[in-house]
This record gives sequence, structure tokens and C-alpha cells, in this order.
Amino acid sequence: MSEAVTIPRIRRLSAAVAGQIAAGEVIERPASVVKELVENSIDAGAGRVEIDVIAGGTQRIRVRDDGCGIHPEDMSLALESHATSKLASAADLAAIRSLGFRGEALASIAAVSVFELTSRIQSLDSGWCIRGEGGGVAAPPVPAAHAAGTTVTVDKLFQPVPARRRFLRSERTEFLHILETARRMALGQPGLQLQLRHNDRLVLLCRGGDDYAARVRTVMGEAFGRRALAVERRAGGMRLWGWLGGGDLARSQSDRQYFYLNGRMIRDPRVSHAVRRALEAEIPPGRYPSYVLHLDIDPAAADVNVHPTKQEVRFQRVRDVHDFIHAAIRDALARGAAPDAAVPGRAPAPPGTGSSRHQAPPLQEAAAWYRGGAAGEEDTPAQTTKPRLLACVHGRYLLIRREARLILIDAAAALRQSLLRRLEAQYSGDGLAQRPLLVPVLLEGSEADLATVHEHVQGLQGLGLALEPAGPASLRVAALPALLHHVDACGLVREVLDLLASRAPASAILARLAEREAEAALPITAEAEAGAVLTALEAAGLDLEEPARPGLWRTLEAPDLAGWLGS
Ligand code: ADP
Ligand code: MG
Repeated sequence: MSEAVTIPRIRRLSAAVAGQIAAGEVIERPASVVKELVENSIDAGAGRVEIDVIAGGTQRIRVRDDGCGIHPEDMSLALESHATSKLASAADLAAIRSLGFRGEALASIAAVSVFELTSRIQSLDSGWCIRGEGGGVAAPPVPAAHAAGTTVTVDKLFQPVPARRRFLRSERTEFLHILETARRMALGQPGLQLQLRHNDRLVLLCRGGDDYAARVRTVMGEAFGRRALAVERRAGGMRLWGWLGGGDLARSQSDRQYFYLNGRMIRDPRVSHAVRRALEAEIPPGRYPSYVLHLDIDPAAADVNVHPTKQEVRFQRVRDVHDFIHAAIRDALARGAAPDAAVPGRAPAPPGTGSSRHQAPPLQEAAAWYRGGAAGEEDTPAQTTKPRLLACVHGRYLLIRREARLILIDAAAALRQSLLRRLEAQYSGDGLAQRPLLVPVLLEGSEADLATVHEHVQGLQGLGLALEPAGPASLRVAALPALLHHVDACGLVREVLDLLASRAPASAILARLAEREAEAALPITAEAEAGAVLTALEAAGLDLEEPARPGLWRTLEAPDLAGWLGS
């Protein structure tokens, strides 16, 4: 923030106003901390927000912004309950323009963590820092070096309340919730630069200068970016805009539905109903559309002070809102069905077009990995333009034709890579899915093997393996990872046990599983198998539109061929 700003001062809410605010605990898990802190940064007018978390946020969550900062005299007030700079009177509650207004978040976070708030306002040379633990503030604020803006560090969340710490899931799961929160924030705030690091590794980066379409692609994936339908309609003081993935972009879960009311993500049954009704004809029962939709309306026409998490709303004219959303989507579908029809008004370009196709690939990869995208993307069927298999060389290299391009694919590498992504995605969720064997496999096991099985009961389960001792020197394999169809069970189990015994990290074991399965799947002898390779690539979010992926594929543009022939 460069321009001079007046720093909003924090006040204690009167008992009367405090009593009108939807009460309740909102800090359930690390992701809720991230949500509250980033909302504060956005309310402070930040242009950049950096989120750093360690161990799924259970060890540390740090959110840094370049917003307006907190006045030094207000540092302690910021940590008090019912103290906020965003509301003054009950009248303000009628038209809330900020994401926060309850004056509760920092207080409730500080009550259950080791907490540090450092902030500097532009007009002062020094920042100030205040620390607390378990709700108590250790000492008055002390001067601290800081750029203009605010940093909040939350360590050891829930340590003072062991009962709540026990409710935390694995670090991976908690991290996935944080990632989802970051995605929601990134989609809700088009201009905001948002960065998320986990254990010092950059996982998500949406640059401030990105066009919104590029951001939607980063978060929703390339398939959505290419094929989603643009929505844009204004009427009666309302505007609905964004993108909608029906038809073949529909999913088996309702997990990619982002709906924003004036930049705040909400989950509202009437909104979902309007969207579902509008898409009735396009989406079969049991499937769910994916979308990023923004509804902009007068803040006075929607009450967000309904629930402490502020995700529920009460629309004043709920019927009108419902019908407007319904009509906007029907309208988009009608236009989408006729590809020549121009998009009226200042509709946003579909996310697949525009100049910023080029994202830093490693980042996107990281994001896709964490997105658990692989598992999710398998919901999207094969690409619109069907590639055609021209040749298969040595049972391993596929030469395919896709529109004017020829693509040479190393099928073994493609299978390995795509499988690895799906394995990693499953593993980072609830562990690898198991496929019970019709006939259990018996294998010889040394005493050391049996000890390893014993020691790694959970680890084996997470890897999708069901193993049990079947006598003094043998093991019974009752289930294998569901994603592996070709591997030989004995060899696989042997190797996994060796890796576990040598304390190999899970990532190394997953890599071996993928490698073994890919080796076992070769040679490719039928067109169906070649098709499976392409489907696997698509399912893993690997996009053949990209001209090359070293080691995986390369595209030969048609003019090159003419060059090859010397013509
Ligand atoms: P609320 O956001 O509902 O007002 P919080 O407990 O989240 O309540 O924050 C209390 C107050 O602390 C805010 O009203 C705001 O004035 C100040 N504050 C918190 N975080 C920031 C930040 N990142 N930048 C500037 N001010 C902040
Ligand atoms: Mg807040």
C-alpha cells in the first residue's frame, strides 16, 4: 500500500452491538486460522498476502501482509474479544462491507496458541510487536522492525487445549484444508497476490498482476480453463459473472463449487439450488457442476451476520436472487450452445484464452499435486479432440496425431508419472485405496519381515496393503493398492517391506509402486492399452496441449514434418 491511508482505529463494541453478532467458536482447525488471518489482511487493503505453514499448520501458521497495519495504541485491543475497527454501531451491521466484523478472531486464536502480532503503519518508522500465550498477553507491545503491514504468527495451535488438539487429523489432511482455504481466498480476490508455502515449499502462487482467467486456471485446472462456459448477466442491481463447468466438467463430488457474494465465499442452499435447477438437463443425477461464480449486489440486500463462520447469508429478496442466478446460467448455456453468438457486454474472456497461458510449470505441478487433483481430475473424461494412434513402437512409444500435431509419447514414463500423481493424491488424503484379492497370495517371510509387518501396521495400511502373518515363516497378502493392476504381488510386497525396514520415506515407496506398475503394464499391444495411457495422462492433469514434457512426450508440429522430408 503506497498511498497515505487513514488507519482505522479499533474500538470495543458496546454490549448492545456485541449482543447482535452471531456468536460461536470459529477456530476449528489450522485452516480456520488461515481463513481468519487472510480475511483480516484483505480487510486491511493488502495487495500481497504470504501464508507460511509448517506441519499442516499444527506447528506454525504465519500470515504476512502489506496492508494498512494496526495503530500502535491499538495492538492490545486487537487481541480483545468484541473489539474491531470494522463496526461502530448496530446500523453498520445492516450493510457489512468487510469480511470481518465480529472482533473475535484474533482473541480466539490467541486463546489457543502461542501468538505473536507485529504491525507497522506506513506513517511510523517502527513497527510494534505483542506476544501472548494461551490468551494471556505477556507484556505491553515492544518496538519491532517490520515493513508497513502486519504479520501474525500462530505457533502450537491448540497446545493449551489438548482435548482440541486431539481432534486434528494428519498434517497432510490439515494442510489440504489450508490449501483449499487459500484457493477460496485466491478466487475471491482477483487482484490479490497470494502465496502459500508448506514446510518451506511453495505450493500455490497467484500473482497480483495475473488476469483473473489465469488465476481460475491455476486453481481449477486446465481442463476447466479450456472448456468452462463464461457467465455474465446484470439485472435489477445484481451482477452474476464467472465460469461454469457443466456437462463433461461435472464431477462426482460438489467440491469445486466456488460461489462468492461480494467477494466472500458463501455456501447457500438456495444458490446451489438455483444453479442445479438451471443445469438439470446438462448434468445427470449424482454428478455435480463445478463453478466459480461471483454475485455482486448491494451489501444492504444480504445479511451475512447469520452464522459465526460468515458463510451463510440471508438474502432480502431471496426469490429474486434465485431466479436471477437461474436465468443467468440458462442464458450462458444458451449462448454456449451457439458458439458463434458473441458474449454480450464486458464479459470476462473464458479462462482458456488470453495471453497468460504460461504459468511457471513447477508451481502448477506442485499445486496440482497438492490439489489432490489427480484423484479428482479422473472425473473429467478424455479430451474434446480425440487423439488418434498412428503407431506403437517397441510396445512402448506411441505416436499419436492430435489435430495438426504429431506427438511422440514414452508410454512407460507417462504411466509412471500419471500413476505417481494419483498415488500421491490418494496417499495425501486417507491413504491408498485397497483392492481385496479374490485369492490371497502367500509368501515366505523371514522373522525380520514379520517384525516389519508388525511395526508398520498403519504404514502398510496407508499404502493400500493388507498383510498378515500366516504362520511362523509366511505372510498372507489380502489386498493390494487399488490403482495397481499389473504388478506381481509377491515382488511388490517384498520390496515394500525392504523399503519400510530401511526407513525409506513414503514418497520413495510411492515412486517405486508407480515404477513397478508401469513396467508391468508394458508392452503395449492393443489400441485400448494405448488409449489407457492417454486417459491416464489426462486423469493426472498432464496436458498434451503442452508442446513437451521432457522424458514424457514431444510434439512435432506439422510444418516440421515437411521440413524432415526436405520439401
Ligand atoms: P474483525 O476482523 O472481526 O474486526 P479480528 O479479531 O479478526 O476482528 O481483528 C481485530 C482487529 O484487529 C480488526 O478489526 C483490525 O482492526 C485489526 N487487524 C487484525 N488483523 C489485521 C491486519 N492484518 N491488518 C490490519 N489490521 C488488522
Ligand atoms: Mg477478522
